[in-house]
Amino acid sequence: MKDAHMNTVFKKSDPGREGVWPAKAEKSASELLPQGLLRQKPAGLPSLSELDVVRHFTQLSRRNYGVDGNFYPLGSCTMKYNPKFTENVAALPGFTRLHPVLPQLKGAGRLCQGALEVMYETEQLLCEICGMKAFTLHPMAGAHGELTGTMIIAAYHKDKGNKKTKIICPDSAHGTNPASAAIAGFEVVNLPSKDGIVDPDELAKVLDDSVAGMMMTCPNTLGLFEKNLPRIVEMLRSVDALLYYDGANLNAIMGKMRVGDAGFDVVHLNLHKTFATPHGGGGPGSGPVGVSERLVPYLPVSRVEKLEDGQFYLNYAFPKSIGYVAPFYGNFGVVLKAYAYILRLGGKGLTRATENAVLAANYLRKRLDKVLDVPFDRICMHEFVASACNLSGCHVRALDIAKMLLDKGYHAPTIYFPLIVKEALMFEPTETESLDTLDQFADDLIALLAEAKANPELAHNAPTTLPVTRLDETRAARNMELTDDL
Ligand SMILES: *Cc1c(COP(=O)(O)O)cnc(C)c1O
Repeated sequence: MKDAHMNTVFKKSDPGREGVWPAKAEKSASELLPQGLLRQKPAGLPSLSELDVVRHFTQLSRRNYGVDGNFYPLGSCTMKYNPKFTENVAALPGFTRLHPVLPQLKGAGRLCQGALEVMYETEQLLCEICGMKAFTLHPMAGAHGELTGTMIIAAYHKDKGNKKTKIICPDSAHGTNPASAAIAGFEVVNLPSKDGIVDPDELAKVLDDSVAGMMMTCPNTLGLFEKNLPRIVEMLRSVDALLYYDGANLNAIMGKMRVGDAGFDVVHLNLHKTFATPHGGGGPGSGPVGVSERLVPYLPVSRVEKLEDGQFYLNYAFPKSIGYVAPFYGNFGVVLKAYAYILRLGGKGLTRATENAVLAANYLRKRLDKVLDVPFDRICMHEFVASACNLSGCHVRALDIAKMLLDKGYHAPTIYFPLIVKEALMFEPTETESLDTLDQFADDLIALLAEAKANPELAHNAPTTLPVTRLDETRAARNMELTDDL
């Protein structure tokens, strides 16, 4: 598809055109600079006016799809609106101009006490929200938090002299869980779910003394709460196995349940989902890890601590620590936004966010379960999984529906995940969408499904309004044609 706006800035170049005419200097730069520093050939920059450049990048930015533009129900990713005041806080020069190796304590200059205090307090707040003993803010993503957590589990067992080699991951867990456990050196045992959740009888079949721990995503990838948790905790405790809670989607439970109180030993959170940083696009993220008392010695270094005189400092003296998991102290800007967000909302606000996320998901589920199969059609948490199987009679698939939604100006839901539902469409409306938006989306999706049923060809050809139409996805991945000539 040809579109003049999509030309690269180089193609738009008009030799001789300039943005500004600097005042004539008495001497040119080539006379003033040492000869050895002069460029031998022109830099190859495009020639454009300032207005050309502004329009070029503004038009490109409009090609981006973001949650600030329209509804983005991408399940498991929590694409919600993040209030802009948190960006202002993270952009304060007192924070952005800090150097990571500034002296910490009074005698040495005391130049970063504020930043250390923010880290300390954020850890305390997360401990309170999750009921854990301590947190580290170092991991840079959810999966990185999982790796950190499973390494902590390994360190605990090694220290105790336990010979444990396995980690159990239910098939309803997030896909990163088994990957993280494997990278941490464990053998992964897959546990089939029953009626969408972990079944203690199935667990009993794989549980023995070689099990180091179990990783549970709760709510799981079907958006369902694991209601057998108390029994599962008890069973794992009986073989000295640790419980890992994938809390990436904490907006389903915060203010309602505390992971530590439920008996979990390790939890990771995705600040870039629940706590005011957008998820996706490759970062930056932050996946803090919280632990129960018995795992505190193994946390990564450094750890921020408070002295009796009220000063904060970084302590590296933890001989049992798993060591460094990230350079310096994690993604501090993301932590700042989370801190501002938690303080602004307070306990009541965070609880309300959970209630709204769960309400929105259930509302959308009820509006759509007449037109799509919902295999586990009961009260869900922050998201639900539908299936396009009921449309297979008319040869319309989840992929077709996702592509048709793009033409309507929506981001598609997550498709073909989790693997345990055929033709899965996973919707997560999040807490920040209004009833109007949810209704408009449901109306549009219902109309679109009727169109697809009546005319499957239309569905197979979507999208038709975007710069790229339907691709042969396998060929597109294997045999990439890169071009700037869209
Ligand atoms: C998003 C997500 C992850 C992974 O987080 P990343 O930051 O993308 O690595 C893990 N578990 C669950 C349940 C998630 O939703």
